[in-house]
Amino acid sequence: MAMNALALIVALFAPAHPALKPSIQYTLRVDSTDLSGWTVEIRLRTVSDTFRLAMAAHPEYDDRYWRYVTGFRVESSGGEATFAKVDSAVWQVVAPRGPVVVRYRIVLPPTPPAPPSALEQRGAWRPFLTPTGGLVGGPHAFMYLLGSERAMVGVMLDLPSGWQIATALDTTSNSHWFTAANAAALMEAPILAGRLRVWRFTESGVPHRVVYWPLPNAASFDTTAFVSGIQAVVHQTIALFGGAPYKAYTFLFQDGAYGALEHPSSVTLGAPSADLARDPHAALAETAHEFFHTWNLMRIRPVEYRDIDYRTQPPVTSLWFSEGLTMFYADLLMRRAGIQPSDSTRTAHLERLMSRYVANPAYGRFSAEAVSRVAYNADPGSLGDYSASTHLQGELIGTMLDLTIRNNTDGQRSMDDVMRLLFNQRRAIDGHLIEQTVEAVCGCDVTPFFDAHVRGAAPLDFNRYLALIGFTTHVTTGPAVFNGEPERDLRIWGWEPQGERGVRLVISDPSSAWGRAGLHSRDQLVALNGAAVATWPGLRAKLQSLHLGDTVRVQVRRPSGPFEATVVVAGFERPAVRIERLPNATVAQRRLAEAAIF
Ligand SMILES: [Zn+2]
Repeated sequence: MAMNALALIVALFAPAHPALKPSIQYTLRVDSTDLSGWTVEIRLRTVSDTFRLAMAAHPEYDDRYWRYVTGFRVESSGGEATFAKVDSAVWQVVAPRGPVVVRYRIVLPPTPPAPPSALEQRGAWRPFLTPTGGLVGGPHAFMYLLGSERAMVGVMLDLPSGWQIATALDTTSNSHWFTAANAAALMEAPILAGRLRVWRFTESGVPHRVVYWPLPNAASFDTTAFVSGIQAVVHQTIALFGGAPYKAYTFLFQDGAYGALEHPSSVTLGAPSADLARDPHAALAETAHEFFHTWNLMRIRPVEYRDIDYRTQPPVTSLWFSEGLTMFYADLLMRRAGIQPSDSTRTAHLERLMSRYVANPAYGRFSAEAVSRVAYNADPGSLGDYSASTHLQGELIGTMLDLTIRNNTDGQRSMDDVMRLLFNQRRAIDGHLIEQTVEAVCGCDVTPFFDAHVRGAAPLDFNRYLALIGFTTHVTTGPAVFNGEPERDLRIWGWEPQGERGVRLVISDPSSAWGRAGLHSRDQLVALNGAAVATWPGLRAKLQSLHLGDTVRVQVRRPSGPFEATVVVAGFERPAVRIERLPNATVAQRRLAEAAIF
């Protein structure tokens, strides 16, 4: 009786929401004879007869793997168990309370036919399986229990024999058993497994692991230079922040893939071995970017970010900072590490960015916050007939703020102090907190700057800030050139919306030949010169085959009815920015410039 009374008291004081005890065990099984996908088994002990399982939506890349769940079923030793889908990503189960087992299989979507072109390589964050290894886990594999997001979970990996495992999940005494402190940690720990190459180093007393999964026909590369470049960037980043915010870190590099995705203590990165054979630092700028996200995005988190959710991430207004300052530091930290990025000097790097900025009218029309809001999870054409990069806009804003701080503090402070302070404050960020933090470091008023360029859409006046360190810009405009040839105006592209047949156009500049001919983003493409075009690769091939002087009839459909435009393919003008030292630059300005690596 005493036991039952105690159980009742415990139940009364249990939190109202979590319908289940924190006892969730996952088993992920890959069968080497069937690499079409994997099975997941979830063992739970329920204290309610109804519970819900969901597949999390990643805030940046929501791949919606709930589409690939098959064979969902539930077993309970206590009696009949039923389930129903109550949302595209949510399964509701009714079963007698007590032990329940849920099973399902993820069947991977078909991969492009081999040999894939560079454009068709796999995104490094997307799961795959091959006879020599694969990437599993995360939101592509595991459902989580709604109401028990904070519960610790166990993960058993049943993989083909001989496969090594690399993941940021917490290890146990059994090499196939792992744990995650909560559901979010489970989703943030992808699992790379197979025949792996592994290197280790320690920085600031913290272990780091570099893992590379090679294709069977991988090119060989200088692995010593590859790993030491990564270590040098890790060293510089930890030096900036004064410590590492994780217990251990794992780089998950994959051959035959592109792109990357950051996590709190690991990162997936595409690094084709052929690229590394040409240059062992070929993936380093991207590695530095993703590694900087460990702080700026993972810990210095936008206020709109949720811990875990199955619903699409709402727009984020401060991505110009999360992405742009991460670009800024990826470049800077490589230089501090003594590794020259591909576009050589920092001045040349900024000239390239500024040239892109002045060539694009979007930056004088959309604020940094407006561009941030459509950077993730928005359809192409969300800025109408304009397109903009929150990475580029944010990197240049960060550069101008850095010069402002250096100038106002006689070189005593820089953006480094802003990053450190934001990290140490441990508060979710928005534009106002970033502004306050810059002001605290700078001892200056940056409200007009934030009003103009962050909340407002005034383009940056580079000369005003470069003058602080004794530099100015010189802008020339001439015919756009590509590989030494006059460049065709192909400032148009297309995409195939989900649940719709055919291609919608995206006009990236209203002053392009396509924009001037009356075409608009979101027009539905019907035909080019009378021939139907139904896919983006089809449109791309037709665009690539055009020559200067060709005339193209573009037939589209729009809500107001059919429309036909005639476009003559021509060259176009493109501005180029050069950064030059002012002849009257003072010694103090030269010192500031040198500290900022100009
Ligand atoms: Zn990024």
